[in-house]
Amino acid sequence: MTGTLDLTPLTGVEPDQAWRDEVLELARQQDAVLLAHNYQLPEIQDIADHTGDSLALSRIAAESDAATIIFCGVHFMAETAKILSPDKRVLIPDARAGCSLADSITADELRAWKAEHPGAVVVSYVNTTAAVKAETDICCTSSNAVDVVASIPADKEVLFLPDQFLGAHVKRVTGRANLHIWAGECHVHAGINGPELAQRAADNPDADLFIHPECGCATSALYLAGEGAVPADKVKILSTGDMVTQARATKASTVLVATEIGMLHQLRKAAPGIDFRAVNDRASCRYMKMITPAALLRSLREGRDEVHVDADIAARARGAVQRMIEIGKPGGGE
Ligand code: SF4
Repeated sequence: MTGTLDLTPLTGVEPDQAWRDEVLELARQQDAVLLAHNYQLPEIQDIADHTGDSLALSRIAAESDAATIIFCGVHFMAETAKILSPDKRVLIPDARAGCSLADSITADELRAWKAEHPGAVVVSYVNTTAAVKAETDICCTSSNAVDVVASIPADKEVLFLPDQFLGAHVKRVTGRANLHIWAGECHVHAGINGPELAQRAADNPDADLFIHPECGCATSALYLAGEGAVPADKVKILSTGDMVTQARATKASTVLVATEIGMLHQLRKAAPGIDFRAVNDRASCRYMKMITPAALLRSLREGRDEVHVDADIAARARGAVQRMIEIGKPGGGE
């Protein structure tokens, strides 16, 4: 998805009242529910019927009575909605919105890896294509990854993919030696590094630190906490959904946030009295930001881009996704 495509977002439409009125009226006429991921542009988050992380949105998509799901997020998320709701029409406003993490392993690569480890249990983070999910035993989110791996008999090898930072986090917490980790990464999360985090923490000594475990800085943050450079009780490793819950609970007046910057919009709405600051304000996912006001309007006007998943692949992927939904608590994904 993300190779040599022109990734220039569709522009030319202002998110004004006329835009909001047309989007909502077209959605009503088409019996469409608008879902927006936490990393979407603020105007997309604000017009959506539901905003959340990928797991929460997957659950809503599966339970919704709407005939059409408009998934404002990246392609694997819309695919997951289609896997769970094969009879609904699922649209993503711009099908070029891929994910560098999902693209870091193909189904062929996974089949070859499985052949090297016969009998291993495959655990895939939800940021994977439908074809990779079809080769997976159980999908996980960042909040249930530890529980999922811990539930697998200790003598079984585990193949964990595709995110190496989430894999390192799970391996550290479970202490499991027979966990093999695919060396994939998200360019956005990997760009949030330890030295930057340490500097930001030193500049804001009273701030809480909210860290998403896919960030390359999660290991550094725990290390820094252990060294006393960052007070251990200030560091919170959280899924994006749990960040919103924690934002409402914290007593801190300043919170440093290490994840994609779209998350700041939800946090500021949840706790307007807190000063939320990005650890790296360049941590913006270009794929997420391809869902523009213009793309959303085009989607509703022209019925594009419709998401299709091969029926055989969907059938094989569905079990792994359903296990993830059963184990994961709402608010537990990216
Ligand atoms: S932030 Fe990274 S993992 Fe998330 S959708 Fe963008 S590229 Fe994928």
